[in-house]
Amino acid sequence: MIKRFFRRVLGLPSHAPQRVGRERHPLRREALSAGALKTCEVLRQGGFSACVVGGAVRDLLLGITPKDFDVATDARPEQVKPLFRRALIIGRRFRLVHVMLGQETVEVSTFRSADAASADRDEHGRVLRDNVFGTQEEDARRRDFTINALYFDPSTEEIIDFHGGLADLRKRVLRMIGDPVTRYREDPVRMLRAVRLAAKLGLTIESATRAPIRKLAPLIERVPPARVFDEMLKLLMSGHASACVRQLREEGLSEGVLPLLDVILEQPLGERFVTLALAQTDERVLSDRPVSPAFLFAALLWHEVLAASKARQAKGERPVPALEAAMDKVLDAQFEKLALTRKLTATMREVWTMQPRFEQRGGQRPYRLLEAPRFRMGYDFLALRAASGEVSAELEAWWRTFQHADADTRKAMLLPDTGPRKKRRRRRRRQEPAGAAVPRA
Ligand code: ATP
Ligand code: MG
Repeated sequence: MIKRFFRRVLGLPSHAPQRVGRERHPLRREALSAGALKTCEVLRQGGFSACVVGGAVRDLLLGITPKDFDVATDARPEQVKPLFRRALIIGRRFRLVHVMLGQETVEVSTFRSADAASADRDEHGRVLRDNVFGTQEEDARRRDFTINALYFDPSTEEIIDFHGGLADLRKRVLRMIGDPVTRYREDPVRMLRAVRLAAKLGLTIESATRAPIRKLAPLIERVPPARVFDEMLKLLMSGHASACVRQLREEGLSEGVLPLLDVILEQPLGERFVTLALAQTDERVLSDRPVSPAFLFAALLWHEVLAASKARQAKGERPVPALEAAMDKVLDAQFEKLALTRKLTATMREVWTMQPRFEQRGGQRPYRLLEAPRFRMGYDFLALRAASGEVSAELEAWWRTFQHADADTRKAMLLPDTGPRKKRRRRRRRQEPAGAAVPRA
C-alpha cells in the first residue's frame, strides 16, 4: 500500500504495466482512421514499434469519434520521415513528424522522457524544455492524465496501460499521473485541460487531482499567452463551453484566462448574455454548424466593453469615441493574458462598432449597414443582445425583417431620420461634395 503510494507520487506506474489483450477490451483496429492504421503498419514494417496513443484511444473507448490520431513510436523523426512519401518534420521545442496520407495528417512522435531532474524549469517549477527521447514507459509518465496514457497497438490489438487508465476510464475519473502539484507546476495549462476534458467527457476530477487547482490557479499567468489562447479556443469550441466555463469558475480559474468574466457574470444582464452565447455556440458545434471564434470572444467581452464605454459617456465623452476607447482598453488588457490574434480582434471590433449603427433606422444608414462585410455576424450579435434583454426585441425584429424585405417594404419600414447630431453632420457632408460637383456638371 505504502509502496504504491510512493510509486504514484513519483509518477511511476502504481502497478506493473498491463498489456490488456483484445479479449479484455472492445477496441478493434477497424476503429482507427485509414491514415493512422497505415502509419502504424509502415513503421512496423520498418522495424519500429508504433501505437496509437492519447486522446484518440481515450475517445474511442468512450464511444466518441476522435478529432485526430496521434502515433507514438521508438523511431526518431529522421528515421520516420523517409518511410513516407509525404512527411514533414515539424516543431522546434520538440520535433515530430506530420505524415500526410490522402486528406489526413497523422502526428507521429518519438517516445520521450520528461526527465524530471534534468528538465529546464523556471522558478515556479514550470518546465521550459523537455526534449529528451525515452522509452515507452517514460513517454507514458510524462503524459498528463491516466486516461491519456493508453497505447493501442494495432498489430496485436492490445492496449498498453501503465497507469491504470483503463480502470479510471471505466470509473469515469480524471486522474493526474504522479503528484498533481508538481505536474501543475511543470505545466499550468494542465489545469485548463483537466477542466476541459472533465466537462467534455463527463468525468469526475479525482479529488487529489482537483484539490490543488484553486491554489495554483495564478500560475496560469506565467504561461505564454499564445498557449493559453490555444487552450481556451479548444475549450470554447469543444461543444461543452457552458459546462467548461462554469467549471473554470468553480475551480477559481476564470480570473486568469478571462479577466472580469466573473464580474460580468455577476450582473444579471451580463450573465444572461454570456450564458446565451455559450449555449448557442455549444448547440452549433454539436450540430456541426460553423462557429466563429471572433463572435464568441466578442460576446465574452461585450459587457466589459459596454461598461467601459458607458463610464466614459457619463463623463461627457461622445458615444463613438467612447466605444472606440473602451474597445482599446478591453482588448489591450485581454491581450496580455490571451494573445488574441490580430485577425480575430479586427473582426471583434467590426462586430462591436456595428452595434450602435443598428439603432439608426432612417435615411440611407440602414442600407449602408446591410452592405457591411460582417453584417450577418453583427446582426446575430444584435439578436443575442435582444435575447438577453439588453436591447428591445422590436429592434431585432425590425432588422430581421428589413434584411430580407423587398425594396418597397424596406422603404416603408424606414423610421423618420431624427437626432440633432445626425442632421448637423449630414448638412456639412452635403455642402462639401456639392461644391466639388459643380465644375464637373
Ligand atoms: P483533444 O484532442 O480532445 O483535445 P487530447 O488529450 O488528444 O485531447 P492533445 O492536445 O491532442 O489532447 O494531446 C495529445 C496527448 O498528448 C494527450 O492525450 C496527452 O497524453 C498528451 N498531452 C497533451 N498536452 C499535455 C500536457 N500539457 N502535459 C502532458 N501531456 C500532455
Ligand atoms: Mg488530440
